[in-house]
Amino acid sequence: MTPDPLNQLVAQLSKLPGIGEKTAQRLAFHILRAPPEYARDLSQAIQDLVAKVGLCARCFALTEAELCSFCQDPRREERTLCVVEGVADLMAIERTREFKGRYHVLHGVLSPLDGVGPEQLRIKELLRRLGGGSVDEVIVATNPDVEGEATALYLTRLLKPMGIKVSRIAQGLPMGGDLEFADQATLAKALSARREM
Ligand code: ZN
Repeated sequence: MTPDPLNQLVAQLSKLPGIGEKTAQRLAFHILRAPPEYARDLSQAIQDLVAKVGLCARCFALTEAELCSFCQDPRREERTLCVVEGVADLMAIERTREFKGRYHVLHGVLSPLDGVGPEQLRIKELLRRLGGGSVDEVIVATNPDVEGEATALYLTRLLKPMGIKVSRIAQGLPMGGDLEFADQATLAKALSARREM
């Protein structure tokens, strides 16, 4: 018989993406064999994450404060805004060191088949932000797949009449690929070679 606490942990770990029952079991055994401090630090880190990290009130990136470090940094160019699907994409673009503007995280892309419409994304907040008139160019850096392209087109139709230049990160990123996993050089090139929509 497997002890119940072990079953509990395996059940929780199995809920993580990409973790099957076998891997969950292996991880649980690893935690059990490690020094007790490891289990304590791990559970503390998980609790801190949930308790302390939230979304930036302006751009919806991750932050421990009301505004994230990108929104607070006075050296970042305020007139250029990069719109991304998720936080992982923002981090990928940051790694290129090519972009010095600010961000807006949509937290998803339009996907009617999955029931994701504009209301489910942070589009209303984006429009409110742009309404202030402090942004000249919006770079749409959604993934080069069907949903990402549809979202870019949707945003272009909304933003162009507002007199805002809308550009799309250049091809060169593999179609259907994921920004998050693109290498830094490819992503940096896609950013600098963006085309106006
Ligand atoms: Zn922010």
